Amino acid sequence: MIGVGIDIGGTFVKLFVLNDKGVVLHKQKAETDYTKGAAHLIDYLCSFIKQVQTKYVGQSVAVAIGAPGDVDNQNGILRYNPNLKFTNIDDWPIAQQIYEKTGILPYVANDATLAAWGVYETDLHRQGDNVLVVTLGTGVGGGLILNKELYQGSNGTAGEIGHTKIADPATAPLCGCGARGCLEAFVGTIGIKRRVLQAVKEYPVSELAKRIHKSNDFKIEEVFQAAQKGCPFALKIWEDTGYYLGVGIANVVLTLDVDTVVLTGGISGAAPYFMPAIKYVLANQQIKTPFTQLKLLVSKNPNIGGIGAALYAIHHAQNH
Ligand SMILES: [Zn+2]
Repeated sequence: MIGVGIDIGGTFVKLFVLNDKGVVLHKQKAETDYTKGAAHLIDYLCSFIKQVQTKYVGQSVAVAIGAPGDVDNQNGILRYNPNLKFTNIDDWPIAQQIYEKTGILPYVANDATLAAWGVYETDLHRQGDNVLVVTLGTGVGGGLILNKELYQGSNGTAGEIGHTKIADPATAPLCGCGARGCLEAFVGTIGIKRRVLQAVKEYPVSELAKRIHKSNDFKIEEVFQAAQKGCPFALKIWEDTGYYLGVGIANVVLTLDVDTVVLTGGISGAAPYFMPAIKYVLANQQIKTPFTQLKLLVSKNPNIGGIGAALYAIHHAQNH
C-alpha cells in the first residue's frame, strides 16, 4: 500500500509519498498560492494524487490530509480556519471535492493531530499507550494518542491544547483565536515576541535589545541566539515560556494521565532553555503519581506533518 500525506499550511503545502514500511518515496513542497483560489489548490492536489496512482498502478493508494484549524474528520470538511487566506472556505468539503476528481476519498484531519501520529510512529515506534504531542510554532497545536490509537474526540477537535486557558481571561493577552488566557498567547511565537518586546523596552541595554531593534519583525532565532550568548533577559523569556508550557502540559497530564509528552515544531530547538522550567512545574504538582514516570521528549522532524499524514493514511486504510 502507498500512503500519500498532504500537509496544508498557511505558507506551504507539503506532499509526501510513503510505502507501508514507512520509507519516504517522494516529497515535494509548493507555496500556498492564494491568488488562484481554493479550487486551484484542490486541482493541484488531485493532479498529484493522479500521478501517484499512475506511478504505482496495481497498488492501493490511501490519502490523508492535515489541515490547520477546525476539521470535521468524520466528513472531511474544514469547518473554519483563520490562517488560510482563501475566500469563502468556511465548511470547505475537501474530501468530497478530491473524491469527485480522483475516485479516492482522502482522510482529512487537523494537522497537529496527524503530526502527532507521525511522532508516535517514527519517534516513539508506537511505544507508550497514551501520548500527548504538542506542536510549537506560530500556533500551538496538539494531538493525542490514547490506548495506542489517535484520539480526535466527538467532533474531531481534541488536542487543542493551545487554546486551553492558563491565565485570567479578564487580564490576559489576546490570542489569535479571539479569546484571552489561551496557552498559545504565551508560548506561540506571537506571544513570545510580545514578551520579548516588553523586555527590550524595560532593559534597552542588553544582548537581546541589540538584536531586536524594537521592531516586531524579528525572528525567534534571535531570542535563541541571545540566550546562547548568556543574555539573562533572553534566558528569562525561555524560562517563562517553559513555565507556561509546564502549566498547560500539567493540565493535560492531570486530565488524561498520559505516559509520554513530546514537544515538536519550530521553537523546539530552544528546548535546552525552556525544558528545565517545564520539568520544574511538572515535578512540583501536588498529585504526583501521573508525573513520576512521565516521559518528556523533543522531536525535531520539520516534515512530521506530511509524513504523519501519509503514515496515518496507511494505518487508517488498513484498520477501518
Ligand atoms: Zn486561543
